[in-house]
Amino acid sequence: MSDQAGYGDIRAGVQRLCEQFPGVYWREKDEQRSYPVEFVDALTEAGYLSALIPEEYGGAGLPLGAACAILEEIHRSGCNGGACHAQMYTMGTLLRHGSEAQKARYLPDIASGALRLQAFGVTEPNSGTDTTRIGTRAVRDGDDYIVNGQKIWISRAEHSDLMILLARTSERDASEKPTDGMSVFLVDMRTAVGNGLTIKPIKTMMNHGATELFFDDLRVPAANRIGEEGMGFRYILDGMNAERILIAAECIGDARYFVTSAAGYATGREVFGSAIGRNQGVQFPIARAHIQTEAAAGMVWRAVDLFESGAACGAEANMAKLLASEASWAAGDTCIQTHGGFGFAVDYDIERKFRETRLYQVAPISTNLILSHVATHELGMPKSF
Ligand SMILES: Cc1cc2nc3c(=O)[nH]c(=O)nc-3n(C[C@H](O)[C@H](O)[C@H](O)COP(=O)(O)OP(=O)(O)OC[C@H]3O[C@@H](n4cnc5c(N)ncnc54)[C@H](O)[C@@H]3O)c2cc1C
Repeated sequence: MSDQAGYGDIRAGVQRLCEQFPGVYWREKDEQRSYPVEFVDALTEAGYLSALIPEEYGGAGLPLGAACAILEEIHRSGCNGGACHAQMYTMGTLLRHGSEAQKARYLPDIASGALRLQAFGVTEPNSGTDTTRIGTRAVRDGDDYIVNGQKIWISRAEHSDLMILLARTSERDASEKPTDGMSVFLVDMRTAVGNGLTIKPIKTMMNHGATELFFDDLRVPAANRIGEEGMGFRYILDGMNAERILIAAECIGDARYFVTSAAGYATGREVFGSAIGRNQGVQFPIARAHIQTEAAAGMVWRAVDLFESGAACGAEANMAKLLASEASWAAGDTCIQTHGGFGFAVDYDIERKFRETRLYQVAPISTNLILSHVATHELGMPKSF
């Protein structure tokens, strides 16, 4: 099942759980820039974070649409899945490309919550979006690899037991294709920190647990390499469609939160003797935000359908992410405008959600790179880089 109205029971269950985490909970976490551990634990205990893990490894074995419904409802309820959404898509790299031994060792503990797999280390300060130019190197030394380099913007690294890491195992120039020669490792953060891995938090405009990572002769067992050496970029790419679709679902949740808040406020707030929502100058932008949101949601669920059927969905996943992230931003802008001065009041949560949803036009892939993908892959225009 992959229509957006589906998964009623899951949606209702997520809503009930989210009711236990009202705005005041998120405001406090936001102010202290602290990890919402209680929320993540509650989601884990209820089984939502292991939705995509197959039943044989202790998960629910549900399709991507179920995970989208979960994340969408979290965001529609005013909560934030940013603290834990990565588990849903990074796990796919381990599931699809890990050995039987790796899956048996890690997936049941990830499903039960005994291990958190929330960190995904790809971006570097000097390569930016051009992942083929990453400089982090993993050099084979007996039964280990020795890792040196630096990553930036790695979310939740301080709160994760495991990290999926992309590093070069052979030089870009020595590889047949620039995308060759990179490998994926499962890094055990519990033993790595202080033994070659240093984590430095980065302050950002929202509470996302962003960090900078420094690798200085970190030893990673060769047994923790996922799949074949040199094939890592392909494994990471493989998971990116799921990541984009899931993030797009979060944006749809945010957008619906903003539209509902704006419509409710516009109906209840009286100025000049009547509800402000009676004025078309107030109601039309809200209606437009709603239309944009539902159009974007249609693309999200089209991408889900293709993904679940095993068809190519790169274009749809990208388009869904672009449309949904722009819809949530536009809905947030309208919501603030509708609330007038109160839109800026921290106690109304709107400014927090507005800050949170802005990220998704930049990460995990920026809007320009999506436009470039569509222009060159879908429309056959020449590539600029
Ligand atoms: C809060 C936060 C959390 C993040 N979490 C993670 C994480 O957990 N793991 C991880 O690996 N990464 C993470 N990222 C990194 C994120 O994926 C990157 O920031 C994003 O992909 C953009 O890369 P960049 O910052 O290097 O920008 P750059 O590549 O430097 O690009 C800067 C701007 O230039 C534009 N641009 C670049 N090249 C072109 C071009 N050829 N044509 C047109 N426009 C172009 C881009 O669209 C962008 O707007 C996170 C980022 C943030 C801010």
